[in-house]
Amino acid sequence: MSSATLNRIDVEYEQPDEAASGAVCSTKHAWARVPPEPSQAERAALKDRIRRLLKEKNAVMVSHYYVHPDLQDLAEETGGLVSDSLEMARFGRDHVAQTLVVSGVRFMGETAKILSPEKTVLMPDLDATCSLDLGCPIDEFSAFCDQHPDRTVVVYANTSAAVKARADWLVTSSCALDIVSALKAAGQKILWAPDRHLGAYIQRETGADMVFWNGACIVHDEFKALELELLKKQHPQAKVLVHPESPADVVALADAVGSTSAILKAAREMDATEFIVATDNGMMHKLRTLNPGKTFYEAPTAGNSATCKSCAHCPWMAMNGLADVARVLETGANAVHVNPALIPRARQPIDRMLAFTAALKNGQSTGALVPHLGAA
Ligand code: SF4
Repeated sequence: MSSATLNRIDVEYEQPDEAASGAVCSTKHAWARVPPEPSQAERAALKDRIRRLLKEKNAVMVSHYYVHPDLQDLAEETGGLVSDSLEMARFGRDHVAQTLVVSGVRFMGETAKILSPEKTVLMPDLDATCSLDLGCPIDEFSAFCDQHPDRTVVVYANTSAAVKARADWLVTSSCALDIVSALKAAGQKILWAPDRHLGAYIQRETGADMVFWNGACIVHDEFKALELELLKKQHPQAKVLVHPESPADVVALADAVGSTSAILKAAREMDATEFIVATDNGMMHKLRTLNPGKTFYEAPTAGNSATCKSCAHCPWMAMNGLADVARVLETGANAVHVNPALIPRARQPIDRMLAFTAALKNGQSTGALVPHLGAA
């Protein structure tokens, strides 16, 4: 599919106010391009082509919950994975395939490459990015770290390789609470970047001493508490599931708060048949597929007044399409490159996170995995 057929959309979003710490989110403007939806016949042909190419190229698909349902279904059907960014990283590292096709956004492909530099990592569109990554440029972030040399630097997965290389710990939304709790128990003060809503949520839950970078996710930042209360009145039996990248007043209305994986678990296990969900609406596919007897409503955004023009759906996740997956598998285009000089240092905080979460999962002690590091 030529770029001429793609629909470019401009994505403007509000600048977060300057934080008390003085850290600012410096990106004012971004863009995305969304591939047109193929016809049924085109979809079937593209899926056949991708199935064949995955075998021929010894490749596996790794897709995020927010990408198009076709890319989620095809990943699972062909032995790949659909999951959150933590499990995507782990799966890509451990899988025997020599080529990973990562459908998601840029930092996910970079993380896969950092963990498996010997593998080829392909992405449907290398321009698929993230407002958190865009809003945390390395020079400004590094200066922020230099202002707080006594703090352990904890960064969210949604960051560039250079920012990861400046960090002590990487976290995703599924393990941030556990890791920050362990750091607090070890007496460490934290510098957190880049999502200010997730950081504030973690601080409220753990009581840790934290200073924050001032970034936001353009999708979750748009969920509105007032409208959510009105929707709750319309569906009084519904439980509210909220991703912690959402504003605090939205999180306060939640029956369950957590990562995409935690939202899936809550929907499966909670004693309810109706749910209101505040996260990217790409999640609805998995929620509805896994819970056919339950009803899911999208939490409200500001609608037409929203700064994110594709309400409740990430414009960059929407850049991933079947045609580009087929094209990159066929041609080897869109290979992810990470500066080799950065890889060893960027890998440290990721390895720390993976070791910590593996120990936690296996019921092992995590104390020895929390050394006192100070700023990187
Ligand atoms: S949904 Fe938000 S956090 Fe996720 S990739 Fe898009 S902008 Fe980034």
